Amino acid sequence: MLDVRDELTPMMAQYTDLCEAHDDALVLFQVGDFYEAFCAAAETVARVCEVTLTKREDSTGRYPMAGVPIDNAASYVERLLDAGYRVALADQVQPAEEASGLVDRAVTQLVTPGTLVDDAYLEGSTANYVAALVRERSAGERATYGLALVDVSTGECLVTSGDRSTVFEELERRSPAELLTAPELDGTLDGDDVVTDAMRTSYDVSAFEFDAARARAAAYTHPDAVLANDAEVRATGAVLAYAEYTQGGDHLDYVSHVTRFDASESMRLDATALASLELFDSRSRSGHTLMETLDETACALGRRRLEAWLRRPTVDRDEAESRLDAVEALSREGVVRETLHANLKEVYDLERLVGRVSRGRANARDLRSLATTLAVVPDVREALSSLDHDAARLDGLTDRLDDCGDVRSLVESAIVPDPPQEVTEGGVVREEFDEELDDIRATEREGREWVSQLEARERERTGIDSLEVGYTQVHGYYIEVTNPNLDRVPEDYTRRQTLKNSERFYTPELKRREDEIISASERADSLEYELFCEVRSSVAAEGERLQALADVLAELDVLVAFASIAVDRDYVRPTFGANAIRIEDGRHPVVERTTEFIPNGIDFSRGDVALITGPNMSGKSTYMRQVALVCLMAQAGCFVPAASARLRVVDRVFTRVGASDDIAGGQSTFMREMAELTDILHAATAESLVLLDEVGRGTATTDGLAIAQATTEFIHDEVGASTLFATHYHELTDLEADHEGVFTLHFTADRDEEGVTFLHRVAEGPSSSSYGVEVARLAGVPARVVERADDLVDAAEREAARRTAADESAESDRDSGDEHAATGREGAPTRDTPAVADTGRPSRPGVTNGAPNPAEKTLSEPHERGGGRAKSAPLPDADSARGARDDQNHVVREVLAEIRGLDVARTTPMDALALLHELQRRLDDANQET
Ligand code: ADP
Ligand code: MG
Repeated sequence: MLDVRDELTPMMAQYTDLCEAHDDALVLFQVGDFYEAFCAAAETVARVCEVTLTKREDSTGRYPMAGVPIDNAASYVERLLDAGYRVALADQVQPAEEASGLVDRAVTQLVTPGTLVDDAYLEGSTANYVAALVRERSAGERATYGLALVDVSTGECLVTSGDRSTVFEELERRSPAELLTAPELDGTLDGDDVVTDAMRTSYDVSAFEFDAARARAAAYTHPDAVLANDAEVRATGAVLAYAEYTQGGDHLDYVSHVTRFDASESMRLDATALASLELFDSRSRSGHTLMETLDETACALGRRRLEAWLRRPTVDRDEAESRLDAVEALSREGVVRETLHANLKEVYDLERLVGRVSRGRANARDLRSLATTLAVVPDVREALSSLDHDAARLDGLTDRLDDCGDVRSLVESAIVPDPPQEVTEGGVVREEFDEELDDIRATEREGREWVSQLEARERERTGIDSLEVGYTQVHGYYIEVTNPNLDRVPEDYTRRQTLKNSERFYTPELKRREDEIISASERADSLEYELFCEVRSSVAAEGERLQALADVLAELDVLVAFASIAVDRDYVRPTFGANAIRIEDGRHPVVERTTEFIPNGIDFSRGDVALITGPNMSGKSTYMRQVALVCLMAQAGCFVPAASARLRVVDRVFTRVGASDDIAGGQSTFMREMAELTDILHAATAESLVLLDEVGRGTATTDGLAIAQATTEFIHDEVGASTLFATHYHELTDLEADHEGVFTLHFTADRDEEGVTFLHRVAEGPSSSSYGVEVARLAGVPARVVERADDLVDAAEREAARRTAADESAESDRDSGDEHAATGREGAPTRDTPAVADTGRPSRPGVTNGAPNPAEKTLSEPHERGGGRAKSAPLPDADSARGARDDQNHVVREVLAEIRGLDVARTTPMDALALLHELQRRLDDANQET
C-alpha cells in the first residue's frame, strides 16, 4: 500500500504487513478499544460504515484513518460484509503492558460471508455455508463435479458429487453464502451458469491439489472410507483449508465429522422448483412461504432441521413412514406435545454454542446457556417416556437422548448463575469450586473487612470524630483528616494527598493491607479466568456428545411441530404405495391460511397427464402447486392438507411456469422457457411429478400450441411422469380423445350480467371459454377498451366461422388421413390470446391454427426462422389461404422491419405514438385489400 515502508513507524509497518498478507480483505487493526483502518482502507471503512474519516499524524507523515469501537464492531463488520468486503480482524495478541515497544498483533479471524461464527451476524434459522466446487475429468468420460460445504458456526460438513446438473442443483438448493472454485473452473461459471448469488472467493489454488486436499481432509475424516472419488476429496480438502484459514489457521475441532450424501437420496428440486413452489422465498404478493407456514418449531435447532427436511424431502419410503409414525404418535397426545414444545423453547442454539466452546470463543454466559439447555433434557425424556406409542423412531430418539449430566454439573458448579459478559474480570467462578480461589478471596475479604473497621478504630485512637476512611482509583485507600484536626494526627500517618480543607494519609499497616487486597483481587481474577478456560476445555472435549444431543433435539422439535400442525390444521397422514397419486380434497397449505379455500382432488389413476383449462384467476396454478406441495410435505415427514392422500414416492418435482407468467424472472423469457423445458424432457422419469404452467405462451399461438402439444405427447409416450399441464390452448384438450392416459380438467366460473365469479372448483373435461374479456373488466380495464375487445372477439368468431367453412372445402380435396387435422379444424378461437402480445415468433404463412384472431393474422410472417419449433408437431396446412395473404404479408414484413429498425432508446413517446398510428394504418389498409 505504501512504497515507503522503511520510513514508516513500526506500527504502520505492522499494519502494512498485515494488509499485504491479507490482500483480499480489509484489515481492521486493534488500537486500544478501537479497530482502526488506515489509508485506502480507511476511506472504505468511513464510507461504508458512515464513520468519520480522520487523520493519523506521526513523525513520518499524515495518513487517513477511520475506526470503529471494538465493543460494537459486529454491526460495522456486518455492513462491510453486506457491501461485499471480507474483513480481517487484527487483534493485539499480547497484553500492552507486557510489550516492550510495539504490541504484537495478528489476524485472529477473517470474517467472510460464508464463514461467520458470531451470532451477531447469523440468522438463527438458516445454515450458513461456504462451499468449494471442483471438476474432475477423465478421458472419454463425462466430468464429475465435487461439492463440499461447511457451516463454520455449527461444524456441519457435507460432501457430494455427480454430474454437472446434479451438483449445480445441489448448489442452488444449499445456496451457500460464499463459493470457492477450483482453478479448472475458471471462466466456466459465467453468465447463465452462475447458479448461485454466493460471494465468489478465489483462494490459494494449491489447496485444491489432490495431495494437499487429501491430507487436509484426512485430518477430519477417513477420505478413503467416506469420500467417493477424487472430486469429493479435493472439494472437501479445499473447503476445510479455507475454513481453517478464516478462523485463524488451526484445526477446527468442532467439525467432528464429514457427511457424504447422494443427491439421489432426496427428492430433487432445482432452483426453479424451489422458487415457483415458494418454499423459502415468496414472490407472490402474500409473501408467505411454505417454510413460514410450517414453522411451528420451538428452537433454532428445530428451525434449521425443518429447513433441511423441506429442502431435501426423502425418497426413502421407510424413512418417510418412520417420521410419519412419530408424528402420528405425537399427534395423539396434546399434553405431552405441549410439554415437549415448552421444554424445547428453553433450548439454546446448541450447535452454535458447541462451536463457540470448541473455538475457545464461548464466554461464561454461553456455558450457562449450555447448562440451561442440558437441564431440560431430563424433562424431555420424561415427557417422551410418558407417551404411549409404537413409533420406533421415538424410541430411538429417547435412547440417544444423552443429558450430558456431567457437563451440566461441571458448568453449574463452576460458573455463577448470572455471569458477566467479560471472563477476565472476575465474578465468573462460583464459591467452593476451587480451594485456592476461595483462599485468595478470603484474604481479599479479610483485608476489606479490616479496612471497613479502620474508621471506627482510628477515630477512637485519635479522638478525631470527623476522621474518614475512603478509596480512590488513583491513590488507593486513605485516611482523611480535616484541617482543624491536623494537630491531632499520630506519628505513623504518612501524608498522601493535600486537599483544600483536609489532608489524606495512610499508615504502614493500611498500605500493607491495600497491597494485599489488590494483589489478591488480581490473582483471583486471573485464577478465575484460568479455571474458566479449563472448564471450557472440558466442555469442548464433550463436543461430539453435545452435537449428537443437538441432533436429537432438532429432530424432536420438528416432529412435535409437525404433529401440532397436523392437529390444528386438520391435516391427514399420507400413505405411500406403488399406486398412482390420488389426493382427495387437497388444499394449498399456504393459500388456505389466508383464504377461504375450496378443496380440490386429483386422481392420476385415470392417466398420467392432466390437461387443465380455465379462465385466468380461476385457480389453476394454485391447484397444481398444491399437488406438488402435498407430495413434498409427505416426503418431508409431515401430514398433508387433504381429506386423504394416497401417494407414491416422487423422485423429482419439476415446475415450469410459462414465460408470460414469470414476471419475476425478467429474462429472455421464451428462450429460457424452452431451455427449462428441455431439462424436463431429458431428466424426468416415470417417478417424477411435472407441473407445466402455461408453457409455450411466450411465443406466437401457433408455435406455442405446437410445442405444448409435442411436449404433452412426449411426456405421455416416452416419460410417463405424472403431469399437470395448465394451458390456455383449448385445442390441446383434444388430445384426450386419442391418447389414453391424457385426461382433462377445468376450472369453472359463474358468468352473469354482473361479470364472472370464480368458483375455484376443479371439474371434469375441458372448459368452454376463457373469459379473458370479463377478467379484464373485473380487473378494472376501462369500459371502452373492454367493449372494443368484446367487439374484436365477436369479429374473430365470425371470421373463424367463415374460415372454417373455407377450410372444410379445402380439406375435402386433401388427404383426409391426417390424424391431427381435427386440432386445426375445430379449435375454438383462442380468445384469451392477447391481441398484440405474441410478437415473439410469428406463425408461418398458410398455417391456420383453427381460426387465428385478426391481430395474430396480421402479424404473421412468410419465412421461417431457425430454432424453437418442435418438429414433431403436426400441423395442418391450408394452401388455399396462401395466395390471398401474400400481399398482406409483404406489408407485415415491412412493418416488422420498421419496428426492428427503431432505436427505442432515442424515440420520444410522441414519436412512438405517431409511428404506431402510422403502422396501424398500413396494416389496416393491407387487411382491407385482402
Ligand atoms: P390461475 O392460475 O388459474 O390464473 P391462480 O391459481 O393464480 O389462478 O389463482 C388465482 C387466485 O384465486 C389466487 O389469488 C388464489 O388465492 C385464489 N384461489 C386459487 N385457488 C383457490 C381455491 N381452491 N380456493 C380459494 N381460492 C383460490
Ligand atoms: Mg396461473
